[in-house]
Amino acid sequence: MSTWKDSIDIFLSKDQLEARIQEMGKELARDYEGKDLLVVGLLNGVFIFMADLVRAMDMRLEVAFMQVASYGGNTISTGEVNILHDLERPIGGRHVLIVEDIVDTGLTLHKVRNMLLDRQPASLKIATLLDKPCRRNVQVPVDYVGFTLDDHFAVGFGLDLDGKFRNLPFLGVYNPS
Ligand code: 5GP
Repeated sequence: MSTWKDSIDIFLSKDQLEARIQEMGKELARDYEGKDLLVVGLLNGVFIFMADLVRAMDMRLEVAFMQVASYGGNTISTGEVNILHDLERPIGGRHVLIVEDIVDTGLTLHKVRNMLLDRQPASLKIATLLDKPCRRNVQVPVDYVGFTLDDHFAVGFGLDLDGKFRNLPFLGVYNPS
């Protein structure tokens, strides 16, 4: 009997993801030791990675979210980036880490980074679970990368295809055949 998961090929298991996120958390906690850190997640795709990452960071920090939409229910970027929900508090003088699920063309981060830089944080860095450097249209400095991918459309572990598959506990590639 076929199930809703049959069109997905696994490329990163739950254990592989967990191990790498633990490493990233330790590295971040070391780098930001003693600093007033605000971790800003970009919804929706980041919700699972962000929850695991901040719990792997053994330090005092705050979390906040922005909601950004760039794909219109498709696997191709529309090129348009809309801010659906902005930060509720000022970030001037604070150390800010933007957390993203995946960097593809770079357009989303380019826009969000410039917006936040205008608010004059003490520092602004970027962490992403996945990076697809081969797809980049705009250069953005990505400081922490979980895994680098080739040109595949990833689903699971928070990432969707038309709103579906976010709840898969692993990362997969959509393969309808
Ligand atoms: P960018 O602006 O860098 O092109 O795209 C960033 C956003 O596009 C990500 O936050 C994510 O929501 C979406 N995206 C880019 N590549 C993928 C992918 O392979 N799978 C999924 N599910 N979303 C993607």
